[in-house]
Amino acid sequence: MTAAPYDAIVLGAGAAGLMCAAVAGQRGRRVLLLDHADAIGKKILISGGGRCNFTNIHTAPDRYNSANPHFAKSALARYTPADFLALVEAHGIAWHEKTLGQLFCDGSAKQIVAMLMEEAAKGGVTILHGQPVREVAHGADGFAVVFGERRFTAPALVVATGGPSIPKMGATGFAYDLARRFGLKVVEPRPALVPLTLGGGDLLFRELSGVAAPVEARAGKAAFREAALFTHRGLSGPAILQVSSYWQRGDPVTIDFLPDAAPGWLVEAKRARPRATLASTLAPLLPARLAQTLAERLALNGELAAQTDRKLVDAEGRLKRWAFQPNGTEGFAKAEVTVGGIATAGLSSQTMMAKSVPGLYAVGEAVDVTGWLGGYNFQWAWASGYAAGQAL
Ligand SMILES: Cc1cc2nc3c(=O)[nH]c(=O)nc-3n(C[C@H](O)[C@H](O)[C@H](O)COP(=O)(O)OP(=O)(O)OC[C@H]3O[C@@H](n4cnc5c(N)ncnc54)[C@H](O)[C@@H]3O)c2cc1C
Repeated sequence: MTAAPYDAIVLGAGAAGLMCAAVAGQRGRRVLLLDHADAIGKKILISGGGRCNFTNIHTAPDRYNSANPHFAKSALARYTPADFLALVEAHGIAWHEKTLGQLFCDGSAKQIVAMLMEEAAKGGVTILHGQPVREVAHGADGFAVVFGERRFTAPALVVATGGPSIPKMGATGFAYDLARRFGLKVVEPRPALVPLTLGGGDLLFRELSGVAAPVEARAGKAAFREAALFTHRGLSGPAILQVSSYWQRGDPVTIDFLPDAAPGWLVEAKRARPRATLASTLAPLLPARLAQTLAERLALNGELAAQTDRKLVDAEGRLKRWAFQPNGTEGFAKAEVTVGGIATAGLSSQTMMAKSVPGLYAVGEAVDVTGWLGGYNFQWAWASGYAAGQAL
């Protein structure tokens, strides 16, 4: 019997697949990296508005969503933001910190793809793309993959085909189908880091389309203090994208429009400026159209002096916990990532290998580990890809 020409086949030449293939290749493994798309690393290219928010210096396991919050710890500890940054610097890529620990390229996301391709080339990785993966089988000769018209075999197979967000970029649920075929469980995938849509009584807020304000948004136990943006369909902006990953259908999203206001501030305002109205009191604190709409909805007509303290305390409470009832999300077409995915219970947190199928690995977004907005998802892709690359 002739030996398979490859030690590992990696399916998906995105962030995690490129990292995994490069690491394994540089360890002397013969790696074949396959992708159906017409170009390599397409999501990297469009990420961070074309500048790729490639990591976050505040990376920690609690910034990830997973049925098992401990799963990501090992991989994240063994490949850190500093490790990725060292690679970026070794390739002479200029970068900057934007806000909240988010690191971006000064130039273009193309530099990150070029860097990963160079690293893969250093490891002698063979990359083929632009053909469909027609078949994946597991038998006596290990894993067999039919890619276009060609059949390849290897003793190890890495699933790095990502999640189904942004299908028009070539994203698919392929990883889940494959995982299920091999007996692995899949935590129900949902769109995440996605705008929320409003209906019913919240529709009136559509007239605020384009207005943004710094808020604290909450869904379930998660709270994020960043900007929220009203859109013609509902709510967006970083604070909303963040809570969308925790939002469950039927739940409210509450917004604190004045997170810095001290308790009792509206009663204080009445004492200081009794002739002011609620609208004129809110006007310096919030964007004008938002201040106007909130004041109208609170329906405290006339001067503050005419309101009882009780009513002002109630109004303050509503501004602190304004409840929106989203009727859905803008779906996978607009979602930056997917929560859910291949259940971590079936994978080794050290190597990303399936416990029940020796030689089968899953990395990146395909796995049920989803980061916050701000470079965390790429850090998971690098770290999980590195863990598998070290184990192959
Ligand atoms: C608009 C947008 C902006 C983003 N910006 C950021 C950001 O700035 N920072 C950040 O951390 N995260 C960002 N993300 C999230 C980040 O892109 C993903 O979490 C990350 O790319 C996941 O890496 P991955 O390797 O698991 O999957 P991907 O990078 O999606 O790679 C999967 C690869 O598999 C291939 N593939 C899929 N199905 C098949 C199939 N059936 N057969 C063969 N190949 C297949 C795809 O073509 C793709 O090349 C952004 C996402 C989007 C959509």
